[in-house]
Amino acid sequence: MAAGLPPGGAWELAPVRIVRAQFARASRHLDHLEPGLVDYLRLPLRTITINLPVEMDDGHVENFVGYRVLHNSLLGPGKGGIRFHPEVSLEEVSALAALMTWKCALVRLPFGGAKGGVTCDPKQLSRREQRRITRRFIADLGDNIGPYTDIPAPDMYTDAQTMAWVYDTYDNMHPGTNNLPVVTGKPLELGGSKGRNEATGRGVVLALERALSLGVLPGLDGLDGARVAIQGFGEVGRVAARLLPERGAQVIAISDSRGGVLAEDGDSLDLDAVTAHKADMGTVVGLPETRSITNDDLLALPCDLLIPAALGGQIHAGNAAGVQARLIVEGANRPVTPEADDILTRRGIQVLPDILANAGGVTVSYYEWVQNIEHHSWPLDDIHGRLRARINDATDRVVARWRGFPADCPESSGELCTDLRTASLVEALQRLRLVVEQRGIWP
Ligand code: GLU
Repeated sequence: MAAGLPPGGAWELAPVRIVRAQFARASRHLDHLEPGLVDYLRLPLRTITINLPVEMDDGHVENFVGYRVLHNSLLGPGKGGIRFHPEVSLEEVSALAALMTWKCALVRLPFGGAKGGVTCDPKQLSRREQRRITRRFIADLGDNIGPYTDIPAPDMYTDAQTMAWVYDTYDNMHPGTNNLPVVTGKPLELGGSKGRNEATGRGVVLALERALSLGVLPGLDGLDGARVAIQGFGEVGRVAARLLPERGAQVIAISDSRGGVLAEDGDSLDLDAVTAHKADMGTVVGLPETRSITNDDLLALPCDLLIPAALGGQIHAGNAAGVQARLIVEGANRPVTPEADDILTRRGIQVLPDILANAGGVTVSYYEWVQNIEHHSWPLDDIHGRLRARINDATDRVVARWRGFPADCPESSGELCTDLRTASLVEALQRLRLVVEQRGIWP
C-alpha cells in the first residue's frame, strides 16, 4: 500500500492499476520475458470511444458515451461482454478487457479478450431507450465487431434482449450471411445456447467444488455442510444460491445493492422466499424471519465461503482484515484488490480468482458461437458436461501450479505470491507467451 493513501480509497480501487499490479506479480514468474512482450501482453491492442446521441422517450436528446476495447487477439477474435452502468469508463472497460484475455487463455478458449460498455444508468432508462442506445452503439461500432473479429456478450445490466438488438442491428447492416455468431448470450429462439443464462453462476459452483475436492481448504473437501455468504442477487449470485444447497451447502446470507439478509439462528435462508420477496419488493431486505444487514456486514460474516458476486473493488485494504470466511470465490470481476489479496494471503484466506471462478459464462458463450457456426443446437446435458470438464481441467492446472510455488516465495520475490490468483494468471500468461513465440511478431 502506498504510504499516506487511505485504504479502500479511489487510488486502491482504480481498475487499470489493479490489473497492472496483478499482471506485474504474475509476470515475475515468467523467465526472460522481454519488456516489449510484457507491454504487448499487458496493454490493449485497440480502444474505441464513441459519442452516442440518443432521442429519449420525451423527445429530448441525450449524449451517452460508449467504449469497446480489444485487449488481445493472439488466441482468436476478441470476446467479452457489454455493460451498461453509471461507472463505466474507458479505464474500467480496458481493465475488464485484459481480464477477458487471461480468462479465455486460462480456460483454453480460442478467443482473445475484449470488453465494452456504455456509461448510463439502466435503472433510469426505459426499455425503448435502452434499445435505441444499443442500436446506435452497435451501428457506430460498425466492422469493429464481427463473428471472426470481436464478439460481444451480456455483462452487468445487459441481457439476452440487449443481445437480440445487437444481433438485429449487425444483421441489418450485413445482410445475406449467417451473422448469428457475432454476439452470444442471445435468446434461445434467436440462436442462443441452452444453459448460457445460468452458466456463470454454475461455473462458480463447479470451480469451487473442484478446488475443494483438491484440498485448497484443509478440513473442507466438499460443499456438504459448508456455510456460504453471497454478495449480489443478479445472474451470478442468484444461480449460485440455487445450486449450492443442491450440493448440501447452507446459504446463510445474501444481499443486493440495497442491503442483505441473514438467516436467524445461523440457519439456511429459504431461497424461494428470498426470490419471491425480491420479486415483490425489489430487494431482498426485509424478508420476514431474517435479520437485515448491510453489504459491509455481509463481507465480515463468520462463514466458510464468501462469494462476492456484485461489483468490483468490494474487498480492499480497508475491510480485508475483517473478513472471516476461509475462502473467497470471485463471482464478480475484480472484487478483491491486490492490497486485500496480500492481507488475506497473510491471514491464510485463499481467493479463487475471477478469471477461473466466473469463466463459466464465456465458456458457454464459446459453445453458443460454435453451435451458431455449425447451425446446430446441443442438448442441455451436453452443455453442462462440457462446462464441467473445462472448468475442472482449468482448476486442476491452477491448483497444480499453486502447489508448485516455492515455499520461500514471499522472501525471494519481495511480494506475496503463494495465492491462487497468481497461479491462475501465470497459467494464462504461459499459454499466451507460448503462442506469441509460435506465431512470431508481425511482420
Ligand atoms: N461478461 C462475461 C464475463 O465477464 C461473459 C463474456 C462472454 O460471454 O463473452 O466473463
